[in-house]
Amino acid sequence: MKITNAAFVRSVSDLSDLPEESFPEIVFAGRSNVGKSSLLNSLTGRKGLAKTSSTPGKTRLINYFLLNDNLYFVDIPGYGYAAVSHAEKDAWGRLLAGYVGDRAAIALVVLLLDSRHPAMKSDRDMMDFLAYHDRPYGIVLTKDDKLTQKERTHAKRATESCAMNAGFIVSYSSVSGKGKNELLDHFDRYL
Ligand code: GDP
Repeated sequence: MKITNAAFVRSVSDLSDLPEESFPEIVFAGRSNVGKSSLLNSLTGRKGLAKTSSTPGKTRLINYFLLNDNLYFVDIPGYGYAAVSHAEKDAWGRLLAGYVGDRAAIALVVLLLDSRHPAMKSDRDMMDFLAYHDRPYGIVLTKDDKLTQKERTHAKRATESCAMNAGFIVSYSSVSGKGKNELLDHFDRYL
């Protein structure tokens, strides 16, 4: 797919405020600070579309973006940030189960892993959750520009060995744009 148009629609803090299921949804998930906002900005070519945050774990909202007037990109809150309270973790779990577990409009979940630390415990838990709910998902290894060739090979192998159900694994750099076309091509298969 080619993105010709991208607009922020709304932020949702409560599941009862989700928009109608009018369009297919591609969901972006990952640990806090994994590079999710940077990837959304890079993919859409809109620098300030998703807010990159300097305070990890702060964004507790589901953000909806409308693409090409016929598809939603959905940015869900990052997980795995050590400093959040139990109450916040519970709230995140409910949001995850209520949205990612149940929403019929979800066509694909894109799980972002930091290529320097792929497949941490919380990431593997997320993969189990997605497999349990039969959600099609693919993996993006972020910040590829920070890796040596040897680290790149290691990251890919480590990911392949635990992400058995992933439909794709794409190495991505929001700095260079590496992986952008490959990822957009994958999206077409799920829409
Ligand atoms: P989020 O919390 O997952 O939305 O992560 P952000 O997009 O805010 O990024 C977290 C940090 O990683 C920021 O300092 C970004 O500049 C940096 N970052 C994100 N993507 C890349 C990338 O592809 N390459 C490099 N070198 N840094 C990145």
